[in-house]
Amino acid sequence: MVKDKIVIVGAGVAGVNAATKLVDNGYPGDKITIIDMGKSPYERKPEEVMTGFLGAGGWSDGKLTYHTSIGGHLSKYCGEDKAMELFDQVITNFKRFHPKPEEVQCSDPQAEPDFIKPYFGLRLFPVWHVGTDYLHEIGKNWYDYLVDKGVNFEWKTKVTYIDFNNPHGYILLEGFKNRGGGEKEHYMTTGDKLIFGVGKSGIDFGKQLAEQYNLATEPKPVQIGVRFEAPQKHFQKLIDISYDFKLYKKFEDKGVSLRSFCTNNNAAYVAAEHTYGDVSYNGHAKKDETYRNDMTNFGILMEIQGIDKPFDWSREAVKKLQINGVGTYYSPSDRTPSKTSEGDSVKCVKVDNTEPLFDALGEYGNYIVDFIKDMTKVFPTLGDDWGIYMPEVKYLSPEPLVDYQNLSLTKYSNVYFVGDALSARGITVSGAQGTYVAESILK
Ligand SMILES: Cc1cc2nc3c(=O)[nH]c(=O)nc-3n(C[C@H](O)[C@H](O)[C@H](O)COP(=O)(O)OP(=O)(O)OC[C@H]3O[C@@H](n4cnc5c(N)ncnc54)[C@H](O)[C@@H]3O)c2cc1C
Repeated sequence: MVKDKIVIVGAGVAGVNAATKLVDNGYPGDKITIIDMGKSPYERKPEEVMTGFLGAGGWSDGKLTYHTSIGGHLSKYCGEDKAMELFDQVITNFKRFHPKPEEVQCSDPQAEPDFIKPYFGLRLFPVWHVGTDYLHEIGKNWYDYLVDKGVNFEWKTKVTYIDFNNPHGYILLEGFKNRGGGEKEHYMTTGDKLIFGVGKSGIDFGKQLAEQYNLATEPKPVQIGVRFEAPQKHFQKLIDISYDFKLYKKFEDKGVSLRSFCTNNNAAYVAAEHTYGDVSYNGHAKKDETYRNDMTNFGILMEIQGIDKPFDWSREAVKKLQINGVGTYYSPSDRTPSKTSEGDSVKCVKVDNTEPLFDALGEYGNYIVDFIKDMTKVFPTLGDDWGIYMPEVKYLSPEPLVDYQNLSLTKYSNVYFVGDALSARGITVSGAQGTYVAESILK
């Protein structure tokens, strides 16, 4: 039987796992072409963080999360049991091409501590640690395997145009191949099926296609809140159990949930982000001991379902929290905003109360205030010794609507979206989505 020609855009975690599943099951490698704007694992440089073989996963922290509530959506499409089975396949692949598979270990989280329980859930989940130092070797072994199986790779080739509607019934892709020294060569290919796995580095291209083809999208929630900061000592009891702790609260009947997000400790800094001309806040930690400030910061992110035009709503709320072109800071004990890791003051205007939060979020502001109140009960020394930078916001990019059975676009059944280009936010989910698509093609 003649097999379809499959073109995969993006040699990232999702694309590579898809190709592997296909050839493992006898799909002819010479019917698969993987196009990537980055380089093969033999040529890729450490500073090329987002592009090349295994994509952003190739130079990542190598932590494979192993729970369906982390790293984006998978169980939504295929159910819990299938999601875990797909995760296992991804982890098996990383072990299979690992020079020392016996060193891949799963960290074993402890049960939620009693002192948290009355007020918060604490999200603890297993993580497989591949080891950052081994990712490069894994990449080479994995790449060699696919090349041996006959898979074609087009490196340094950026796809800039895709025609899903070609009158001849195939998909047409165009772009350019980088020949080095600024020389570019026009590139064109066709395929019967397309797996689109361009990751974060290709997010704009994904948006462009969504607009060009007027693709239906999933309704998205609002994600907005504040960046909370306090001396680390108040949280030490919890940090000892879970360094990057994730507290959460759910109000399902109201369509609202809150979680602490991206916790930084030891040398923890708040950073102003500029998005769409406004200032919002985020945090990061430094590894170097000379930066130690014994502070903790984390986002308190509130997810609100069912808001009409969530993007516009969030933009409006963010605007209301700006004064003189920067965001706002409030502390009940008159703490002063911290310094950045470069020693400058974090850009913000100090306010005397939480009124701006309520101006921006209306009654939703109460959820954040209550979250903080409950933290003062769980962490008794905290009291008023904290401050909040307002706002922290995540603008969720539109996610194309796909057939849950195989992740193909509802409008074009031979085009599959996978990985961070769909709804993933991590290695395990991205790889599993690629595998899921390959399984459907094999059927
Ligand atoms: C520094 C860093 C550390 C991380 N650490 C972790 C971690 O420890 N654990 C975890 O779970 N996740 C981590 N992540 C996130 C994880 O790497 C991604 O979620 C995952 O790699 C997404 O897989 P993907 O296949 O969707 O995209 P990617 O792996 O990003 O691959 C996309 C590929 O598409 C290519 N591409 C994009 N646009 C085009 C185009 N137009 N034409 C041709 N090629 C194109 C890119 O070159 C890239 O190779 C990290 C990310 C970064 C940046």
